[in-house]
Amino acid sequence: MKIDGACHCGDLTYEAELNLEQVLVCHCTDCQAMSATAFRVVARSKPDTLTLLTGNPSTYSKIGTSGAERVLSFCPRCGTNVFSTTAGDGPKVHSIRTGSIRQRAELVPVAQMWTRSGQPWVDSLSSIPKLEEAYGPPGGITTYDR
Ligand SMILES: [Zn+2]
Ligand SMILES: [Zn+2]
Repeated sequence: MKIDGACHCGDLTYEAELNLEQVLVCHCTDCQAMSATAFRVVARSKPDTLTLLTGNPSTYSKIGTSGAERVLSFCPRCGTNVFSTTAGDGPKVHSIRTGSIRQRAELVPVAQMWTRSGQPWVDSLSSIPKLEEAYGPPGGITTYDR
């Protein structure tokens, strides 16, 4: 599936061809720390199909549990983490953060990985009370009636 995406400020834009069998929720502790939230959803590209259209990402390298280096790209202006890939030469499969993909509503995860480090409440997400919009007025306090 052909997709396109952008960071929050719009400086970084890209397009890629996705492998729809590789849309995954990741509960690993690196994804929690680097997304600064509870879990991350990624879609893997087909090899060498990601093209950066505009912008110049900053990068950060980390060593994964496999011992391999991963290079993460993010926007130097707004900080959005857009994708990661392997270091060095060879075909590049990009792990694209689905929140940056314009067609993200069509990307349904096929599996969840690293659930052993997942937050204990994620399996009960559907039973947590829902609000269609913000929780209370900005700056205000709402008492949620359980
Ligand atoms: Zn940006
Ligand atoms: Zn992860």
